Amino acid sequence: MSDLSRNLAVVRERMAGAAARVGRDPAQITLLAVTKVFPASTIREAYEFGLREFGENYVQEFETKAPEVADLADARFHLIGHLQSNKARRAAELFQVIQTVDSPKLARRLNESGARLDVMIEVKLSGEEAKSGAEPAALGELIAAVRACSNLNLRGLMTMPPWSDDPEASRPYFRRLRELAGQHGLPELSMGMSHDLETAIEEGATCVRVGTALFGRRKKA
Ligand SMILES: *Cc1c(COP(=O)(O)O)cnc(C)c1O
Repeated sequence: MSDLSRNLAVVRERMAGAAARVGRDPAQITLLAVTKVFPASTIREAYEFGLREFGENYVQEFETKAPEVADLADARFHLIGHLQSNKARRAAELFQVIQTVDSPKLARRLNESGARLDVMIEVKLSGEEAKSGAEPAALGELIAAVRACSNLNLRGLMTMPPWSDDPEASRPYFRRLRELAGQHGLPELSMGMSHDLETAIEEGATCVRVGTALFGRRKKA
């Protein structure tokens, strides 16, 4: 058995365990395979094991990998890293889902590209300076701006809590994201990574973004 097939079995098991604890159907939770820094061959291998949703952080990095995975017709690629509006047009050509919309300007730029896109709004729930995402107070206005974009299909909210070894530290952030999504009538929640995916699923995640637990430690990009 390859490392990936073993790791995938463990991740699926963890997802199923968390879903069972809160009476959810694990089939309703998307496993987004985060392949940043890894080569296109890693995407192909994961595809062979049945994965269809892939997360990448950088437009430029995926630009070089995209031609090598263009034949994987039913694969979907999600941008999960910060997107500058001057790269919106290129991102709209490369990705099917943009999870990191964080301003009305970026939404308009994506819309103007003409591609039909599923989008999520990234919400910044901690005070960390380095983090991107929309402030919760700006969410109402941003949601209205995205909904006014006819090429964008707003699916939900995404967040990334401050790093902690303790998965319980993420729980209040996940809970807050679920409350915000509920207030705005948004069905999807992208939250939870390798170390805290169980907590995220217990709090309602519909998409967990998993890199390390599937592919091993990343070398620094
Ligand atoms: C890298 C990354 C992940 C995956 O993190 P792991 O800890 O490797 O599972 C998930 N979400 C975002 C936004 C990331 O940048």
